[in-house]
Amino acid sequence: MTDLTKLTLADALDGLKAKKFSSREITQDFIQTIEASRVLNAYVVETPEKALEMAEQADARLAKGEGGKLEGAPIGVKDLYCTKGVRTTACSNILGEFTPTYESTVTQNLWNEGAVMLGKLNMDEFAMGSSNETSRFGPPINPWRRQGDNAGLTPGGSSGGSAAAVSGDLCLAATASDTGGSIRQPAAFTGTVGIKPTYGRASRWGMVAFASSLDQAGPIAKTVEDSAILLDVMCSHDPKDSTSLQVEQPDWRAEVSKGVKGMRIGIPKEYRMDGMSEEIDALWNKGIEWLKAAGAEIVDISLPHTKYALPAYYIVAPAEASSNLARYDGMRYGARVDGDNLTATYEATRAGGFGREVQRRLMIGTYVLSSGYYDAYYLRAQKVRTKILHDFVDAFETCDAILTPTCPSAAFAFGEKSGDPVEMYLNDVFTVTTNLAGLPGISVPAGLSSDGLPLGLQVIGKALDESACFRVGGELERAAGFVARPEKWW
Ligand code: GLN
Repeated sequence: MTDLTKLTLADALDGLKAKKFSSREITQDFIQTIEASRVLNAYVVETPEKALEMAEQADARLAKGEGGKLEGAPIGVKDLYCTKGVRTTACSNILGEFTPTYESTVTQNLWNEGAVMLGKLNMDEFAMGSSNETSRFGPPINPWRRQGDNAGLTPGGSSGGSAAAVSGDLCLAATASDTGGSIRQPAAFTGTVGIKPTYGRASRWGMVAFASSLDQAGPIAKTVEDSAILLDVMCSHDPKDSTSLQVEQPDWRAEVSKGVKGMRIGIPKEYRMDGMSEEIDALWNKGIEWLKAAGAEIVDISLPHTKYALPAYYIVAPAEASSNLARYDGMRYGARVDGDNLTATYEATRAGGFGREVQRRLMIGTYVLSSGYYDAYYLRAQKVRTKILHDFVDAFETCDAILTPTCPSAAFAFGEKSGDPVEMYLNDVFTVTTNLAGLPGISVPAGLSSDGLPLGLQVIGKALDESACFRVGGELERAAGFVARPEKWW
């Protein structure tokens, strides 16, 4: 295996442009590495022939001195994005062998800029989960292991396949999606970078819906710069998504190296939770020191409704899911289990097609939307959501960006939390707030736990101020000098 798979996206793009290697060569390397790494279970569909065809077209364009922003770069795609002619199931049995006849806007944007598709990446069923254990294909495995311990660890969820693939050098970068933390938490668990942009920056058209007012596309990549390169291509205004924003897109890549001198960084006291691990606390303090040393001003802020964010999220997200997933009735596409009559067919299809976690959410969602409980749960959760947004708006009066840990712990082992849904949901405690408020958030690897696992710090920006995330994220990356890599065991 050559080293081409170990390149950053930025370096690979430079190498391709300078004709140091061809897209065919780097694509071939990835195809071989993916084949040799199937034990990681990162890909649920491999598309080597398509990849080589796309690589050849990219090479032809590069030879003429043409080509887009991602020309020739092999990328992995979360199985949540509809890809024309390539099976897309959101890792749910209910979608059977569904093969879309159209392409999602986000992935179309990638191909328009010359990217090469390596295949579809594992994820939690319908993106519901924090460990990728709810996938119909079984979980992907985190390339990282605890020191002196061979226990398999989760790469996080729901974009666990994307995170495992990027961290295991099975693609240059990957698309992911984030409804409550599904880009940032897997990035933190695998020593990679993930950014969820402002709600509306990326089109949701052709993305399998989970909770439409929270879902947002974004990349998982090896570096902050790489995440800026990919995010730039993924985002666009799209008339086919009524929540897509028509706004200017700054040069995010240029922000990464600008530094934080003069920036005011808010530290929310409510994120210092009882029982938080000392390691996470220490990492957060280190982050504060790094930013201070780089010329930022640190300000204490308060986000008083933080403690209500998780309960509000676990009402709003299931409520929207119960409505979105009503379409899976076995009639138009996907799997069908026949019953004696129409109702029995619906019931058998849904009982057989949805996994247990998805069923749990659909029941919670249906319950909180039912008459009599709507006001007590759904409406109240919506009010809390507004309060959370107001907390951020107030806090941003005194700061330009907010620094927090990404997750309360490092990667955990399979089975460790899957028996207790509430314990699993607690993973999202630092990430759901930005989804509820629609704000951008980036996770950057900042250190290792005592047993040698990556830990991430999160930077939250104002609405449409991804630039602040990239500036602060870039500074954290430089200061942390995070170069650790998982030891290859697979
Ligand atoms: N872990 C969260 C959940 O299970 C977030 C998932 C996501 O962001 N898609 O809902």
